[in-house]
Amino acid sequence: MSAQILVVEDELAVRDLLAFHLMRAGFRVTEVGTLQEAWAHVAGADAVVLDWMLPDGSGIDWLRQLRGTLKGERQPVLMLTARAGEIDKVLGLDAGSDDYLVKPFSSAELVARLRALLRRTEPARVHKVGALTLDERQGTVAYEGHELSLTRREFELLAFLCASPGRVFSRTELLDRVWGEDFLGTERTVDQHIAQLRALLKADLIETVRGRGYRLKGSE
Ligand code: CA
Repeated sequence: MSAQILVVEDELAVRDLLAFHLMRAGFRVTEVGTLQEAWAHVAGADAVVLDWMLPDGSGIDWLRQLRGTLKGERQPVLMLTARAGEIDKVLGLDAGSDDYLVKPFSSAELVARLRALLRRTEPARVHKVGALTLDERQGTVAYEGHELSLTRREFELLAFLCASPGRVFSRTELLDRVWGEDFLGTERTVDQHIAQLRALLKADLIETVRGRGYRLKGSE
């Protein structure tokens, strides 16, 4: 699904233009004109485009507060300002803004900056656990530098375990998360795939935790 962008801007003409360009670039957009409304919508946003001066306060102060919240700590925020002074820029970054644009800016620049910010916060797609390297994008697994040939399901199972090394997953949990809740298999299916992975990895990487399930040894 496309990223949800919260646009906080009180000038209607600017806001409409921002929303238009962002939607045309494939983003989903929520538009608000005040900081109070921004609080109401920020939890559902993947990133925020935040104006500097809003009718009910300064975007910078709002951003400082946002950084103190659990989700807001990591939400990408692109600050907009009409002031080009260096001090303002530094202030913006100090308050926790990830990037800024000085008005007027081009729509292409806005979209490019937002995409870059969203990429930065994407979860890691390459997992390195000990001598194991799994690349979710390329669909490749290597152990001690040697590439392994896995079936799709073996890959998905290993990728899932690699995302949380050290954590124990029950067979039921693995079935739900890797095979999907609609899958009509049994816990034996999980055992079989774990056995195949162990044979392929030729190493004792996947540990059986008695009575609880499986875990990938090590840390990422
Ligand atoms: Ca404004």
